[in-house]
Amino acid sequence: MSSSIDAKFGLHKKYKGLEKNVWVEFVAFVAEHKDVLNLGQGFPDFHPAEHVTAALAKICSNSGDPLLHQYTRSYGHKRLVDALAKMYGKLINREINPMTEVLVTVGAYGSLFATFMSMIGPGDEVILIEPHYDCYRPIVLLAGGKPVHISLKPTKPNDTTSGAWTLDMKELEALFNQNTKIIVVNTPNNPLGKVYNRKELTEIGDLCKKHNVVCIADEVYEMNVFPEYEHVRMASLPGMWERTITVGSSGKAFSLTGWKTGWSYGPANLMKNLFVAHQSCVYTCNTPCQEALAIAVEKEIPLLGTKDSFFYQLGADLKMRCDIFAKSVVRAGFVPIMPEAGAFLCANWKPLESKVDLSSEKDEYLDYRFAKWYAKKWKVLGIPPSAFYSEPHKRECEYLIRFCFYKKEETLARADDLLTKWADANNIAP
Ligand code: PMP
Ligand code: GLN
Repeated sequence: MSSSIDAKFGLHKKYKGLEKNVWVEFVAFVAEHKDVLNLGQGFPDFHPAEHVTAALAKICSNSGDPLLHQYTRSYGHKRLVDALAKMYGKLINREINPMTEVLVTVGAYGSLFATFMSMIGPGDEVILIEPHYDCYRPIVLLAGGKPVHISLKPTKPNDTTSGAWTLDMKELEALFNQNTKIIVVNTPNNPLGKVYNRKELTEIGDLCKKHNVVCIADEVYEMNVFPEYEHVRMASLPGMWERTITVGSSGKAFSLTGWKTGWSYGPANLMKNLFVAHQSCVYTCNTPCQEALAIAVEKEIPLLGTKDSFFYQLGADLKMRCDIFAKSVVRAGFVPIMPEAGAFLCANWKPLESKVDLSSEKDEYLDYRFAKWYAKKWKVLGIPPSAFYSEPHKRECEYLIRFCFYKKEETLARADDLLTKWADANNIAP
């Protein structure tokens, strides 16, 4: 009986090859290894900003509008799309129509899903720049499209910042052809923490214009930029609004990954495609979180660009935590790639290879074996960056591990203790 069910109801072939997911795997690893310090998946282990959670608490207190617990407008709760249109209008210096040019989705994932599903089909090519967030590729494949990959490379030998990882523009240009429909640019980048500069974005934008290609600007870390760096929005560059869909997330802007509320904005003629995909899937997102986020975004609008802005303080806070953690990583003999934004630091463990014995680990890629071995033996867990590469390129990062440093000070102190223990046991000179 069950075999006839299995034969007829196995995983549909459109999902074949997509069974493995790095987040599912590492969340399960953490559940199984309770003594491990989890610096894997990106989220803080302390409370988010009080004014945002207080807004939600008030909404949920049964003293306010009862309709805030019911369905809201499909494409986004009115108060939130109004606030987002106003905020991004100010940031990219153009009028944004909240009704036709903004969409609220289930996390940034929802916006990415709606974009690929509504605009990509068989024969269409999507250029993805590695290392890139792992979900782009499965969604492009599900939509029937063809992912085409190019890698950022560390091009300045003695420069250990993520900004030294750059694209070969000639190699990029060679990937564009009449089937190319979309390029995804993730700035600031996960996992490297690279903030693309204006020149890089202009060159990519010029290729989009030349080849009539749309850019998905995944800018979920836009509010996580360290104070000395500038986040340039692709949609603000000359001639790019018309062909850019920008993706954002409250998970990163307000450190609320569990609220799973994201959004996208762009020109109405492109956004209407996403609206159809969104209404045909989840239809609408949860109302109370959207109302609370609207209140938080409204508060930010007059403060944008000032040191009183929550977003400015968030970038400065992340930089402070990054610097603390980087010292521990260096002390432990790793070579960090210093990020310019975000919550992650990638570190190279090649100099430590002689102290590592991965014979107990069975994963195919070296970085997976290292991440798991190091967590089991030395109790600090990071993410293997090959999850952010396509099959032929996974070995480009085999000596890297990504750690999340967006943790409370006690957690960073515990990381320092564990990393020092490893350094002392292995005679790694301070
Ligand atoms: N894009 C990037 C680059 C990410 O790192 C993430 C996850 N943090 C997402 C999209 C998905 O964001 P969300 O949790 O809002 O769906
Ligand atoms: N974006 C988060 C990270 O990079 C993880 C998101 C997820 O778990 N899917 O760590």
